[in-house]
Amino acid sequence: MIDWTETDIVFIRRPPKPQCPRCGSERRIITKSMALEGDGSRTQRSICERCSSRFRVVVERAESEPANDWQT
Ligand SMILES: [Zn+2]
Repeated sequence: MIDWTETDIVFIRRPPKPQCPRCGSERRIITKSMALEGDGSRTQRSICERCSSRFRVVVERAESEPANDWQT
């Protein structure tokens, strides 16, 4: 069982390209799970294969992303 509450948090913008906060690797990042937050951002739980460090990646919603107000 992994405790994710103590892991680092990395903020990125789309397109999602997480980078390991420890070793800087971009290529060997494994996304374990993804969760939508209330403000439209996403949180990914990721593990770096290279140095085995765990961290959370927050993907912020893009400014250009259309709002859902066309449904009214
Ligand atoms: Zn790493």
